[in-house]
Amino acid sequence: MGRGLVIARGGLNLRESPKTGNVLSTLRRGSKVEILEEETWLKVKKSDGSVGYVLADYIEKEDNDLVDQSTNDTPVSTAVADVLSLANDEQDQCVIKTYANSQFIGKELRADVDFLPHLDRLNQYALDCAVKIYVTSSAREPGRSVSGAIVPPASRSNHLVGHAIDMNLQSASGFFNSSKLKKTNLANLPGEIQDLLNLVKGDEVLRWGGEFNPEDPVHIDDELNRRNPNRWDLKLNSR
Ligand SMILES: [Zn+2]
Repeated sequence: MGRGLVIARGGLNLRESPKTGNVLSTLRRGSKVEILEEETWLKVKKSDGSVGYVLADYIEKEDNDLVDQSTNDTPVSTAVADVLSLANDEQDQCVIKTYANSQFIGKELRADVDFLPHLDRLNQYALDCAVKIYVTSSAREPGRSVSGAIVPPASRSNHLVGHAIDMNLQSASGFFNSSKLKKTNLANLPGEIQDLLNLVKGDEVLRWGGEFNPEDPVHIDDELNRRNPNRWDLKLNSR
């Protein structure tokens, strides 16, 4: 299947099984793995021989077969077959589901099925910090979009494909809205709120909007619009 290079900024969890499997170890950015199976979750092998699963979007495949085609005896059909095997229609569909979990309160949370494992992790972070996440907005309906229309970058919100939430936070210390969650106010926030935001910031996929410019401190998403703009387009067009 070839080899791959870890490109996740904060490293990448190597899991026993896809999605919610136990974390075996963390792969550093720049480390190389042998790709054994190819899905949204890649089954990979580290140099020490341990095998597990990582999120495919954070592995850039080294396409050795394609580089030296002129001097290489490998038939072109092999390379084409490899590339075709990357296609995964299911991942390109936006399937919006209602999500509920112990730490989520507020408005109904609606999200794409591919975002749900990230929400599970977010719920665990909130549980660990004894914080409730008050949802104010999640999946948004796209305006009347013409299939195949090009959406300008500024409006390529992850809310449109169900990969973002807007939230306020609640703990024993009180309720924290957008003005309280501002980055400049971070140091004044109680420990459990800081802890939760730091867990989100340290997550391999999730982003906290408090770090955006301009900041959007009530926003959390998985960066699908930048991580995989093509899939973002396909998901939007499938709505
Ligand atoms: Zn938002």
